[in-house]
Amino acid sequence: MPRQLAERLASVAPSATLAMAAKAAKLRAAGHKVYGFSVGEPDFLTPSFVREAAKAALDAGATHYTAVTGTAELKSAICSATERERGWRPVPNEVAVSCGAKHALFDIALALLSPGDEVVIPAPYWVSYLQVRLVGATPVIVPTTEADGFRMGADALEAALSPRTKYVLLCTPSNPPGAAYSAEHLLPLVEVRRRHDCWIVVDEIYADLVYDGFRHASLPAIAPDLRGRTIVVDGVSKTFAMTGWRIGWSIAPVELTRALDMVQSQSNTNPAAVSQAAAVAALNGPRDEVHAMRAAFARRRARMVEGLRSVPGISCRMPEGAFYAFADVRGLYGKKPSGLELTNDEAVAAWLLEGAHVATVAGTPFGAPGYLRFSYATSEEDIEAGITAIRTLVAHHT
Ligand code: PMP
Ligand code: GLU
Repeated sequence: MPRQLAERLASVAPSATLAMAAKAAKLRAAGHKVYGFSVGEPDFLTPSFVREAAKAALDAGATHYTAVTGTAELKSAICSATERERGWRPVPNEVAVSCGAKHALFDIALALLSPGDEVVIPAPYWVSYLQVRLVGATPVIVPTTEADGFRMGADALEAALSPRTKYVLLCTPSNPPGAAYSAEHLLPLVEVRRRHDCWIVVDEIYADLVYDGFRHASLPAIAPDLRGRTIVVDGVSKTFAMTGWRIGWSIAPVELTRALDMVQSQSNTNPAAVSQAAAVAALNGPRDEVHAMRAAFARRRARMVEGLRSVPGISCRMPEGAFYAFADVRGLYGKKPSGLELTNDEAVAAWLLEGAHVATVAGTPFGAPGYLRFSYATSEEDIEAGITAIRTLVAHHT
C-alpha cells in the first residue's frame, strides 16, 4: 500500500509535552489567560551577550554549512565547559553537536540500536525517550517510586538488564520528577554496569539547574573506567535559555562519534551555523545570568511546590533539580465536576485546563499515572495566580 505511513509510526505517539503546550496556545489565542505550566522551556530571553555574538557572527559570515557535527570552536568550548562545570575533560573528536539534545538522543538511537535491542529506561521518563521505538528497539521500563526519590536502585537495574540491553538511559536531574542522582546514588548503578556489557547514556541537560546546594555528579567524573561505554548528552537549551537555537550534543568514544557524524552527514548536514556561534559565546561567556536564572528557578520551585501542597488532594515532593514539580493528584480522584468523574491523571489535567485555565502535563505519558507535571519555568505571578485558580476550582468541588 504505497500511500500508507510507515509501520514504525504506530509505535510512538505525538510528544505529550508539546501537545499540551499547543492546547494551551489555542486557549490563549481564543483570548483566555492561561497559566502555562506545561512545556519545559525557560521563559527568559537568551542572555544579551549571546544574542549580540550571534548578530556579529552573522555579519562575519556564519551563513554557510559547517563541519557536520559542529565547528572546531564549538567543540573546544564544549570540552572546556565540560571540564569546568562537570569535572572531566573530553577531547573534541568525542563531541558531536546536533540540533538540540533531543536530536542528539535520536542520533544515538540510530547509530546504536537494531530492531529487538532493549533500552533500559527508569520511569517516570521524559516522553521523547520512547523515540527508541522508531528504530525498532524495545524500551524496558523500570518503575521508581516517590518514596525512593524517583531514583532507580541497583537491584531494579540488575533485574532489567538482559543480553539484549544496548544501553541504559539515565536522566539527572530528571524530567519530569526533577529527581537527581548524587555520586552515592550513582555508584551502586556503576557497580551493576561493571558486571554487564552495555552502554550508559546520561542525559545531563538539566545539570546546571540544581538547588539547595545539591552537587551534580557527572558519570564520567565518578566512573572514569567506564568512559569507553558512556555517552553524555547535554546542551544549551535549558542552562542558557536557548531552546529555540537548537543546539545540543553528545560526548562519546571516538568510534561512536564517527558513526554519529556519518548519521548526520546523511540527515541534517549540520546544526545552524549562527546557532553554533551563539553556543560558543554562551559556553565561553560569564555565568552571572545563568546564576540569576537559577536563583529565579529556585524561588519559583518553592512557590510552586508550597502552593501545590496547599491544595487539598494534591501532594508534592520537593525536587532536587530541573524546573518541574511532579505532584501526586490521586487525592482528587472521585470528584465529579459537571457530571464527569475524575478517575485518572489525564482527566485531572483536562479539568484543570478547562476549569482553571491551568496547563499541565499528565503523568501517564511519562510512565507515571496518578501524577501531573507542573513546569515552573514561568513567572512567580503566574505561579501564584495559577495555584489560586486551582485552589478555587478544587474548593468548588469538594
Ligand atoms: N532531555 C530532556 C530530559 C529534556 O527535558 C529535554 C527538553 N526538551 C531535552 C532532552 C531536549 O532538549 P533540546 O531542546 O536541546 O532538544
Ligand atoms: N523538554 C521539554 C518538556 O519536557 C520541552 C518540550 C519537549 O521537547 O518535549 O516539556
